[in-house]
Amino acid sequence: MLLVATSCCEKKAKYVFYFIGDGMGFSHVAVTEAFKAVEKGEIGSEPLTFTQFPILGMATTYSTNHFITCSSAAGTALATGTKTCNGMLGVTPDTTSLTAISYKFHDAGRKVGIISSVTIDHATPGSFYAHNPSRSDYYAIAKELPETGFEFFGGGGFATPFGKEDSERSIYEIVAERGYTVSYGIEDYLALKDSTDKIIMLQEKGKEENILPYLKDVGKNDITLAQVVDAAVKFLDNEKGFFIMAEGGTIDWAAHSNDLANTIFETLDFDAAIEVAYKFYQLHPDETLIVVTADHETGGIALGKTTGYNFDLTIVKEIFDKIENGDKNADIETGESPDVFSYMSEKEIISYVSDKANIGWTTMSHTGGAVPVFAIGAGSSLFSGRMDNTDIPKRICKAAGIEF
Ligand SMILES: [Zn+2]
Repeated sequence: MLLVATSCCEKKAKYVFYFIGDGMGFSHVAVTEAFKAVEKGEIGSEPLTFTQFPILGMATTYSTNHFITCSSAAGTALATGTKTCNGMLGVTPDTTSLTAISYKFHDAGRKVGIISSVTIDHATPGSFYAHNPSRSDYYAIAKELPETGFEFFGGGGFATPFGKEDSERSIYEIVAERGYTVSYGIEDYLALKDSTDKIIMLQEKGKEENILPYLKDVGKNDITLAQVVDAAVKFLDNEKGFFIMAEGGTIDWAAHSNDLANTIFETLDFDAAIEVAYKFYQLHPDETLIVVTADHETGGIALGKTTGYNFDLTIVKEIFDKIENGDKNADIETGESPDVFSYMSEKEIISYVSDKANIGWTTMSHTGGAVPVFAIGAGSSLFSGRMDNTDIPKRICKAAGIEF
């Protein structure tokens, strides 16, 4: 296999950021860039932070038993370098446990942070610490978290903190017993972070437990993915370096609903989190590696649906402007009267927005296309060109000088 060699004198990556945009295919990136141009009143593509990284590659995503992967098989490939069957997490098809690179980094003395905008026992984050033949065994997956000793977890909460039947011991008690401090909201985090060496940073109590709010719903005191990444960088920064995996999980959720506006907004939110890492990179350019990729594409989103050249994201801009102005419930100017949004269900609005923009969707599930890989920093040349998703963790280890 052809590999681009790193130069002899290049430094190893001491600080590694591994960003996974769940469901973020090439077209999710393209439509978000087109939206940024529309924001400026132009037809075109305004680059995101991560699309300006100098290295661009593509990764194939198929799993052991399906050309179209699910998030746990893809997460396992991205975390361990081994393919498995859809539905399985951190284990081979014959259920042998695999070792994620997060463990290899930890064993090498690096501090480790695992972050997601959805629950931290979900498929992608779970792939970096858990081993289970079933990705939906959330309680058992969560119980593996405190056994890792990884220093930082953050984002959404736990899917079933008391087990499937609500009859098990609280996961919060279990993690506390194993030396983890759990913080709820930014104020609480700031008050607790200096008195512990292992922390789980969650949303304020009483808020939506499972995910960080969609960008459009972010309210006062809500934590964002960018804030969690920022907190992790500060918490984990040390002489020996760190490994941070951060998932933009809500891109996938929005795309599963074929929800154009939220697909774009969540990709922007993901980019804002990457900007935090990019600022860190600018301070330590020789020793920082940032890799941005996706586990698979979701929705089969297409920029153009019917014949002709119609493509218009103005309606998404109107929705965005109303959110920015704090006027979420205001009517959208659809150009039709009476205001059609006033009598539509949320589902109807979602499909109206895509129709109006002339955006197509082929599925409410995943597709089997390759996904983009963007990289910058120490060892980033390893991520150029065509690769398989199982190559990515191997190359990250190589870039960091850690034996795979
Ligand atoms: Zn999905």
